[in-house]
Amino acid sequence: MPGSGKTYKIAVIAGDGIGLEVMPEGLRCLQAASKKHGFTLSLTEFDFASCDYYEKNGKMLPDDWVELLKPFDAIYFGAVGDPRRYPDHITLWGSLLQFRRQFDQYVNLRPVRLIPGVQSPLALRKPGDEKIDFWVVRENTEGEYSEIGGRIFTGTSREFVTQETIMTRIGTDRILDYAFKLAQGRPRKLLTSATKSNGISITMPYWDERVVEMSKKFPDVKVEKYHIDILTAHFVARPQSFDVVVGSNLFGDILSDLGPAITGTIGIAPSGNINPTGEWPSLFEPVHGSAPDIYGKKIANPVGMIWAGQMMLLHLGETAAAEDMLSAIEQVLGRGDFSEITPDMGGKGRTEILGRAIEKAILDM
Ligand code: ATP
Ligand code: MG
Repeated sequence: MPGSGKTYKIAVIAGDGIGLEVMPEGLRCLQAASKKHGFTLSLTEFDFASCDYYEKNGKMLPDDWVELLKPFDAIYFGAVGDPRRYPDHITLWGSLLQFRRQFDQYVNLRPVRLIPGVQSPLALRKPGDEKIDFWVVRENTEGEYSEIGGRIFTGTSREFVTQETIMTRIGTDRILDYAFKLAQGRPRKLLTSATKSNGISITMPYWDERVVEMSKKFPDVKVEKYHIDILTAHFVARPQSFDVVVGSNLFGDILSDLGPAITGTIGIAPSGNINPTGEWPSLFEPVHGSAPDIYGKKIANPVGMIWAGQMMLLHLGETAAAEDMLSAIEQVLGRGDFSEITPDMGGKGRTEILGRAIEKAILDM
């Protein structure tokens, strides 16, 4: 296969805990896909954004991290933090959340896709049932997670606490634009908006209003809206009916954890923090954290890391390679070989065994 012949510069940050164990498997599979599809991944590994780096340097990132990372096409990230060593407000706030803000990664994107061979905690599904396969698009920079607010009369009976939600025209329209375009590119072209305009009476009606306004630019996309409470119920009761779901920072956060939960183990779910303009690098990572409880046992499921690599290839435009990677994941998990799949999926496999099985499936595609 001739392939695109392109070279992509990827910053590789393994981080902490099982991030260090699943990263080699992700890279192994990415290399297989790039070899097969005729493009090059130029990888540069960094040791910052980890507890070890913090221990040596007293900070999570070097002073010139923005200039260091800006030239990369994407950041491939493992996991950060170990609450037994340092609190999350140092490790997480000092690294991932800095990236998210500085690199204006205003889209958080997660697939919700039930892979054959993976048991959903929902009722048993039969062969031939409609597929569970949709995207959750979360606004990643504003909304309910502002730090604007305050607390007065602390400790008295007149204690008063407030925190504001920020919704800007630019911030709202750009996340909706991304979600509409994503829906437009899919066969069903259905966009579901999460709202709560019957309870949150100023910002959420504004969100709804922008959805209606933006929908005029995408007449071929069908739009529906649900209040967040009933929407979570629909996620569980009829996940097969969704295509692309978009929500504010808080609602998107809730839905993007619920989605992967109904499609099996946290060990397989990936996530993208995306700057669609391309001005700054986007970041791809597994949903799971550093899992100190299993670190060192070499049983961490590498599929979340590998699937995050697959999302990175989609983002870079290497669609055929990305399709192969996803098919390879489906093929290996689908055959459900107990000697390959990791204990979180009920098997006896090890991180590297499962990684190598998927690598081989990619090469054999
Ligand atoms: P963080 O705060 O970084 O999200 P956490 O401890 O809250 O970390 P995880 O690190 O994601 O959350 O771990 C949650 C649970 O899921 C742990 O019991 C962990 O062992 C398990 N787990 C997480 N990732 C994997 C994986 N890749 N394979 C198997 N088990 C995993
Ligand atoms: Mg957690």
